[in-house]
Amino acid sequence: MCGIIAYSGNRSATPILLNGLRKLEYRGYDSAGIAIHSNNSIHIYKQEGKVENLVKSIGDYENDSTHMSGNLGIAHTRWATHGPPTTDNAHPHGASASGEEHNIALVHNGIIENYRALKSRLEGEGRVFHSDTDSEALSHLIDSYYDGDLAKAVSTALKEVQGTFGIACLAKADPGKMVVARRGSPIVIGLGDDETIIASDASAIISHTRQVIYLDDNDVAVIQGGKVDIRTLDASPVVRDIADIDWSEDAAEKGGYEHYMLKEIFEQPTAISNSIRGRIDTDRGTSVLAGLQLEPRDIVDLQRLVIIGCGTSMNGGLVGEYAVEDFAGMLSEVEQAAEFRYRNPIVGSKDMVVAISQSGETADTLAAVREAQCKGALVAGLVNVVGSTIARETGRGIYLHAGPEISVASTKAFTCQVSVLLMIALKFARSRRLSHEEGIKIAKEIERIPELVEEVLKQNDHIAKLAEDFVDYDNMFYIGRGYLYPVALEGALKIKEISYIHAEAYHAAELKHGPIALLEESMPVVALLNEGPGKEKTLGNVEECRARKSPVLGVITAGDEEAKINCDWYIEVPASPHYTATITSTVALQLFSYHVARLKGCPIDQPRNLAKSVTVE
Ligand code: GLU
Repeated sequence: MCGIIAYSGNRSATPILLNGLRKLEYRGYDSAGIAIHSNNSIHIYKQEGKVENLVKSIGDYENDSTHMSGNLGIAHTRWATHGPPTTDNAHPHGASASGEEHNIALVHNGIIENYRALKSRLEGEGRVFHSDTDSEALSHLIDSYYDGDLAKAVSTALKEVQGTFGIACLAKADPGKMVVARRGSPIVIGLGDDETIIASDASAIISHTRQVIYLDDNDVAVIQGGKVDIRTLDASPVVRDIADIDWSEDAAEKGGYEHYMLKEIFEQPTAISNSIRGRIDTDRGTSVLAGLQLEPRDIVDLQRLVIIGCGTSMNGGLVGEYAVEDFAGMLSEVEQAAEFRYRNPIVGSKDMVVAISQSGETADTLAAVREAQCKGALVAGLVNVVGSTIARETGRGIYLHAGPEISVASTKAFTCQVSVLLMIALKFARSRRLSHEEGIKIAKEIERIPELVEEVLKQNDHIAKLAEDFVDYDNMFYIGRGYLYPVALEGALKIKEISYIHAEAYHAAELKHGPIALLEESMPVVALLNEGPGKEKTLGNVEECRARKSPVLGVITAGDEEAKINCDWYIEVPASPHYTATITSTVALQLFSYHVARLKGCPIDQPRNLAKSVTVE
C-alpha cells in the first residue's frame, strides 16, 4: 500500500534509495527504512516518522565504508495496516532462524491475510518476531525455505500466502541478487545502464530511467548484474514488454492521472477488495470482523447501533444505519459527531457506538467517542489510519485498509466505509434474525462490489462529456430515496467541495415540502434512479422537476429504458441491490463532480478552505 524503492547496480545504493524514498513521500506514510547489502552482511536502519529522521539515524553514510557502502539495497515507506506506526514495525524486516544476523531482508506493500497462522507456525519452529506486522511473517517464511536459492525460497513462500503483496527481498548469502514479486500491489522495474531500479510506482524511478517493465500478478523476478529474469510462481519463464514512460515527474506521482482525486477514484476496486479481503465468509453467509471483539451472544444483547461521524463519514454512516435496520432488524441511528458530544446523548451499556473517521483524528468524532465511553457504551472505531487516536482510544474496531488518501475530497475512504458497514450489518444480522440463505446472498453481493465499481469506471469518458453541460450552473439539487438518499447527500457534498457549485440533497419526497419552489431551468436535478424500491416514486418526482423545466441527470441501472427516456442525461451503473448501488452510484457521482470541477479549472486536490483532516472543532 505504500512505497518501495530498491537498487542493484554499480553505484552506491544508499543515496539513490534515500532520494527514492523522498520521491515517495507524497503518498503519505508513517515510517521509513532501508537495508543495504554491504561487506557480506545486511545492514538495516529504520525510523518512525519522516524520511529525514531515517537519514539522520544513518549518519554519515557517504564516508562509511562498512555498513552503507554496498550497491544492492531495498527501502520502504510504510503506511501501517497491521501494528502501529513504530520503528520496530517499520520495514525492512530481517529474518534468521537464530535471531542474530539477518539472513533475509524484506520490504512489503500490501496485506498478508493469513499471517497469524504463518506466524504461529514459525514461532512454533522457534523463530522470534520483533514486530506486530503481517510482513515479518513473510520474511521469516522466505528465510525458512532458503537453502541458497532466493528465487525458489520466495516462490515457495508466496504460494502459501493469501492476500496482496509487492515485495523486494535480499539474502545475506547472495550478495549480487535481489528478488521482487507482486500480487495486487504494483512493482515497476526500471532498466538503467548496467543497473536496475525497482519501485512501487514510477515516480521514484524516472529520474534514472524511463524504460520500465511492469510486473504482472504472481510474477517473480530475479535481478542480478543488470539482468532481469521473470518467472511465474512455478518457475516457468515469462516475457513482459518493456514500456517507455512519457509522463512528467509530477504526473508519475499521480500514476499518470491528472489529480490524486482521479487516481483515488480509480483505486477503488483495489481499495474495496482490501477492505473486504478475508472478512467475508460466504459458506456461513456472514462476515468475520475480529476487531469488533463481539461474539454472537454479545450482539444479541445489544439494543442499538449508534453511528457517529462528520461530513462524508456521516453520509457513509447513514448507509450503515439503513443496512443494520434492514438486514438485522436492529435499531440503528446516525448522529453528527459534534451534535452527539454536546447534547448529552442517551447511550449506555446496551448500545454499540461506531465512530467513523478516515484519519482517526477528527476532533468532534474523538470527543464523541470519549462521551460515549464515559456513558458506558461499547465503542468501536472505523478508521483508515492505523494507530490513529480513535483507533487507540477505542481499542476495538475495523481498519478500512483503503490505503493513503491524499486528495482532500474523500472518495475511496467513503466506499470502503460503506463496504465495512455492510459487513457489520451482515454480522449483526446473522447473529440475530437473518437466515443462512439470505446471509449467503448478501455476502456474495458484498464480494461483487469491486467488479461492479470497475464497470462504473468504464463510464469515465461518457461522464466527462456530459459534465461539459454543467459548468455554467450555480445551483443543483440531488434527490434519492431509501439507501439512495445518503448517496444524494454524498453526491451534493462532493460537487460543493470541489467544483464550488452550490448543491443541496433532499429525500425525493421532500421536494414538494418546499424546495420545489426553486425549480426552474437554471436548477438541474441529479436523481438516483437505480431499479429497486422507490424507483417509480422517484421517477414521478423527476417528472415533476421536468414539468418545471429543471433538467435531470439520472443515475440509472444499465439498460433501464424507462429511466432513460425520463432524463436529459443519464449515467448507467450495473444492476445490483440498493445497498451496494450506494457504492456504484456514488462512484458515478464522484466522477461527475471531478469532471465538472476539472472543466471549471478548480484546484481539485486542495479545494479552498478545506483541510484533509478536521482536527479542530
Ligand atoms: N501490511 C504491512 C504493514 O502493516 C505493509 C503496509 C504498507 O504497505 O506500507 O507493515
